[in-house]
Amino acid sequence: MSLIDIHIHVAKREHLTDVFLDYFVQEFGEEALKSIDDLTPIKFTKFLDAEGVDTAVLLSEYSPQVTGVVPNEFTVKFAAESPKLIPFGSIDINSSVRTGDQAEHAFRDLNCRGLKLLPSYGYYYPNDPRMYGAYEVAQKYDSVVMFHTGTSLFPKTRVRFADPLLLDDVAVDFPNLNIVMCHGGRPFWYQESEWMLRRHPNLFIDISGVPPFQLPKNFPKLERFQDRFIFGSDWPNVISIKSLADLV
Ligand SMILES: [Zn+2]
Repeated sequence: MSLIDIHIHVAKREHLTDVFLDYFVQEFGEEALKSIDDLTPIKFTKFLDAEGVDTAVLLSEYSPQVTGVVPNEFTVKFAAESPKLIPFGSIDINSSVRTGDQAEHAFRDLNCRGLKLLPSYGYYYPNDPRMYGAYEVAQKYDSVVMFHTGTSLFPKTRVRFADPLLLDDVAVDFPNLNIVMCHGGRPFWYQESEWMLRRHPNLFIDISGVPPFQLPKNFPKLERFQDRFIFGSDWPNVISIKSLADLV
């Protein structure tokens, strides 16, 4: 069976805010930070081989207020070095360039294969009309938009933007867009995100950040919707992808 990890962050130190760097060093140590900073596509591909990961989705990020900015160009360049790596882009809702034009550039010129958005770090609602241009383009490319849902550890996060029910509008307005609710609305919106699977066939849950032993309790209809739950590790926020995947 092949293992696809849909939720991986690759970044350089210079992309990340002090808030994120402080958290990461406290949690995983200075050495771990150095090793992600020194990461090359070749080293990372070897790591993924050892972890049994066949395909890894690398997520760009546009969250200057909270975690940082991992540019689409960086992710695309990194991923281009290995067929195992799939780049996803991100969007700046406050840019003077319209979100549809940013998305078009990401898909057409950079060859991004999807988008990752973090509304609670960028302070907008997922159904904000300014974002609709990006959704339109992603739908046109028959692609996927991943949304961070649920809580976060980082200061300056505004959790009201991370409610999975806010994706109801997006799912209704873009019925052919694949939408992923990252973390399934952890920890107090599990029921809502699972209900959204029942309501919208174009919705999926990425289980990153949800402890595997809690999955059956948090998602009682896990078996019924097994095709709609996607594996993600949120690496480097976990040390071993393989030991996590073994538990799922
Ligand atoms: Zn993540």
